[in-house]
Amino acid sequence: MKKVVILKIGEYDFDLLKEKIKTATSKHFSPATLFKEGDKVLLKPNLLLPAKPEEAIITHPIFIEAIGAIFKEIGCSVAIADSPGGFVGNKDMENIYENSQIKEIAYRQNFELLYPNQSIVADGFPLCWWVNGFKMVNLPKLKTHDIMTLTLATKNLYGCISGLHKSHLHKVHTKTDDFTNIILKLYKMIKPSLHIVDGILSLEGNGPAKRGSPRKLGAVIIADDALYCDWAISKMLGLKDDFNPLIKQAKKEGLLEEEAEIISEFQGEAIKDFKFPEAFILNRLPSPAISVFKGLFNFRLAINKAKCSGCAKCVQVCPAHAIKIHASKVTIDYKKCIMCMCCSEMCELGAVDLCESFFIKAIKALSKCRQ
Ligand code: SF4
Ligand code: SF4
Repeated sequence: MKKVVILKIGEYDFDLLKEKIKTATSKHFSPATLFKEGDKVLLKPNLLLPAKPEEAIITHPIFIEAIGAIFKEIGCSVAIADSPGGFVGNKDMENIYENSQIKEIAYRQNFELLYPNQSIVADGFPLCWWVNGFKMVNLPKLKTHDIMTLTLATKNLYGCISGLHKSHLHKVHTKTDDFTNIILKLYKMIKPSLHIVDGILSLEGNGPAKRGSPRKLGAVIIADDALYCDWAISKMLGLKDDFNPLIKQAKKEGLLEEEAEIISEFQGEAIKDFKFPEAFILNRLPSPAISVFKGLFNFRLAINKAKCSGCAKCVQVCPAHAIKIHASKVTIDYKKCIMCMCCSEMCELGAVDLCESFFIKAIKALSKCRQ
C-alpha cells in the first residue's frame, strides 16, 4: 500500500528537521531497509534559479542539508543534482549552487555537487546522466505553477530532463494536457526511493518563480510514490481533483486506483485560503468552452520595463524564438508565443508579467466559489 506522511514542522532548524524526518522515515518507510551503508544517494531538489531561501522558489538549503545528513549517518555517500530550466552550461549550475547556499551546505556536510553536463536517452527522453547509478531522493518545493496549478513531487521529475531539451518539449507539447502526459511518462520511468516535500515555506499565487509569494504552511510531506504524494497535498490545499491537471489525467489513466495510507499531523485540516495562480481559472473551465471562446480567455505576457535589466536570459530559454532584445528593450512576438511560461520562470527579476483579458477579470470578479 502506498504511504504518505504529513508532518508539522514550522521552521528550518537543522536539528529539528533531521530528528523529525529521521524518526518519521524510520517508523513508516524504514530507510535502513531502503538504504544501506555504501549506497550512493542522490538528492534531487528543485533548484529552478539562483534564489534566496526566503523567496521560497528553491528547496530550502537547510532542508536539503538535514536530509542529506540522515543518509550520511547511515554510511551513504550523498550527491546533489538538478537540471534547471534555462541551463546552457556548467557555469549556470555553478551560479545556482553558489548563489542559493547549496555550495555552502555541500562543503559543510561533504556532499558532492553534480553537473548536468552529459545526457543519456531513455524511452526517447534526453535525461541527465545522474538519473542512473544512484538511489534518488526527490526533494521538491511545494509551489504553485502557472500551467500545472501546482508543482510537487511528480513535476519535480521534469528537472531530470537534460538542459534545454526541457524548453524543446514545451514547444512540442503546448497544451496543458500534452504537457501533463510528458510528466506522467517521466513518473512511470523515474522511480525515486523516497519523496520528501519542503512545504515549510511554500510558494502561492503566480508560481513557480519570482511572481509567486512565499506562504508559511509548516508542512513536510514524505511519501514512497510521487503521484500519491501530490494527491495528498492537493487535497490538503483544498484543490478539487478535476482542477488539478496532473491528478485528473492520472485518475483517467487508472494510476491512482491503489489504496493509500495517509498519516497526517494536520488531522485532516484542509488549508482553506491557499492562493492558486491567476491562470488557474482555465483549469476550472470545461475545455470545449476554452476552445470555442479561445480569444476571450487569452492571457498575455508583458515585460515590466521597470524591472527588466535586459539580461537576455528569456531570449535564450524561449523555445518558440518569440522574444527579441534590441538596445536592452525586450519585445515578444505574440504570434509565435506558445505560452509555455519558460521566460517567466527563468527571469530572475520577475520582469515577465501575466496580463489577463478583460473577460477573465470579469469572470473572476463574478466567481463566488474558489474551486
Ligand atoms: S525579462 Fe527578465 S530575463 Fe528577460 S531580459 Fe528582462 S530581466 Fe532578463
Ligand atoms: S515568450 Fe515566453 S511564454 Fe512565449 S513561447 Fe517564449 S518563453 Fe514561452
